[in-house]
Amino acid sequence: MLAYIGLGSNLDHPKQQIKTAVMALHSAKDVEVVNLSSLYQSPPVDNSDQPDYINAIAQVSTHLTPLELLHVCQAIETDQHRERAQKWGARTIDLDIIIYGVQVVASKQLVIPHPEMMNRAFVLIPLAELEQDLKVPVLGPIQELIEKLGEYQLTRL
Ligand code: AMP
Repeated sequence: MLAYIGLGSNLDHPKQQIKTAVMALHSAKDVEVVNLSSLYQSPPVDNSDQPDYINAIAQVSTHLTPLELLHVCQAIETDQHRERAQKWGARTIDLDIIIYGVQVVASKQLVIPHPEMMNRAFVLIPLAELEQDLKVPVLGPIQELIEKLGEYQLTRL
């Protein structure tokens, strides 16, 4: 199954945090990172007083179920959050499952496609970089989602 994982960080050397998380994903059992978008920089969603975020999307090939993949993502987050105090909602690393094949998941723990993806340039733009003709389950063609975004601030690094 092909899945897309969104990665974000705005604390403690964010670019390195993303790279560390991608390597951890790749070394997880039954997960292979097959493609990685560029890194992108954007201001916090709520414009609050915290550092800009660095984001990327990893395309992974996996035999794991969506829930097993979520657990892998959460283990990586826990690993990289170690020793860190969380302030102002800033994140050392955040991993979200954005898309998992054509599957739609709506459970207490997991919602796929990710419920905020259509509002986030830092998800849609790197996704389109990887797969410009992607059809997002339920939501439709990625290019149409990007057209509906309106104005956004995002820098490709
Ligand atoms: P956050 O750290 O703010 O991204 O939220 C993590 C929580 O969101 C976890 O408790 C997950 O169970 C839940 N969640 C729901 N859907 C997803 C998804 N598609 N990817 C990652 N976490 C998800």
